[in-house]
Amino acid sequence: MDRRKFITNTSATSAFLGLGGLTLGSCSLYKPTKITILHTNDVHSHIDPFPSDHSDFPGLGGLARRATLVDSIRKENPNTLLFDAGDIFQGTPYFNFFGGELEFKLMNMLKYDAATIGNHDFDNGIEGLLAQVPNAKFDLITANYDFSNTALNGYTKPYKTYTLNNIKIGVYGIGIELKGLVTKKLYKETKYLNPFEIAIDIETKLKEEEKCDLIICLSHLGYEYTTEQKPDDITLASKTKYTNLIIGGHTHTFLEKPTIVKNAENREVLVNQVGCFGINLGRVDFYFNGSTNTNANGVSIKV
Ligand SMILES: [Zn+2]
Repeated sequence: MDRRKFITNTSATSAFLGLGGLTLGSCSLYKPTKITILHTNDVHSHIDPFPSDHSDFPGLGGLARRATLVDSIRKENPNTLLFDAGDIFQGTPYFNFFGGELEFKLMNMLKYDAATIGNHDFDNGIEGLLAQVPNAKFDLITANYDFSNTALNGYTKPYKTYTLNNIKIGVYGIGIELKGLVTKKLYKETKYLNPFEIAIDIETKLKEEEKCDLIICLSHLGYEYTTEQKPDDITLASKTKYTNLIIGGHTHTFLEKPTIVKNAENREVLVNQVGCFGINLGRVDFYFNGSTNTNANGVSIKV
């Protein structure tokens, strides 16, 4: 399969988002800069591509091909960050045999910058996740799991900032409620904090104290729940004030391009999710051109 063709095809169908609406409020003058955000979610230990006779995803996915794709995008724009929105573990024998070591080590090779924690990342318990932490050269970011009374205490961060070409980017993580989804003996004394309250606290800190130009949430809440009252990314987006992009996971939602949601102050937030199993790579380009309006262009690329 010709990946170059894929890139051309998908780029051609990408939508131009946030025209004059996605306001990243800052008065400082920038040299024109493009920041590229790449992302995956719910890869679920899928390291090899699907077989060519697979009914749903013939020949798609695979870490090696994702590596080549990420590499070519980084060459095109060195101001690129790569994130994962959780559920890295569970789904193939690789996890059963190696407990997540291979997933983390391969993510290092792709130079992932950070990942948030999904419910399945607790499948070998707090201790199983902790055992893999030394294998990750990227940060585990989660703000609404309080691990104080667990062995994982101190091994995760609520948020992290990156500065690329004078653009400061703040990234925070939001996890799903584990009760009812994961057995308690696996997550033990992990405390789940209200995702909306924590998101607003952290984004405010990232904006007002850290002076971030771009704020990204890695969320494992799920895209949208219409029949149950559960926190989701669409609601989260509508409640925030400063978050510019929510990179989602958990519901395995295949979006061709990010959804635009109006936040609490009527500014646009992008919500994206690229399905599951490493079949797609999400890409969102933010263009900083010195004005207070920043345009964003998002697309899902077949791997
Ligand atoms: Zn999940």
